[in-house]
Amino acid sequence: MLEHRFKGKVLWSRLVRNISREALHHLVLEYNKALEIGTDKSKCGCLSLITYELPCACMIALKIKNDTAIRLEEIHTHWKRLRFEYEVDPKVKKADISLLPEWDILQVYF
Ligand SMILES: [Zn+2]
Repeated sequence: MLEHRFKGKVLWSRLVRNISREALHHLVLEYNKALEIGTDKSKCGCLSLITYELPCACMIALKIKNDTAIRLEEIHTHWKRLRFEYEVDPKVKKADISLLPEWDILQVYF
């Protein structure tokens, strides 16, 4: 099952339909990074948190470990607006999406 790769279903549960796809895109990148580096803050650098005000890889790794959800309070209000600019120009986004096999799986949740 593909879904098995997303064992962190709980992780995404609170975010369903509440954040923009762009935010989700960033979070999936951090999620992949989390699987690689784990909870090591020094490897994480926490750029996502600093730059985008979204949970960074080490935060997500901790959540995966504890099987807890990313809370909506941890997402900056900016990302909660539904912003679909990218979808207006599918060419721009398509290249991005193709890099994310997880995207399809996440779509099921959203
Ligand atoms: Zn971090």
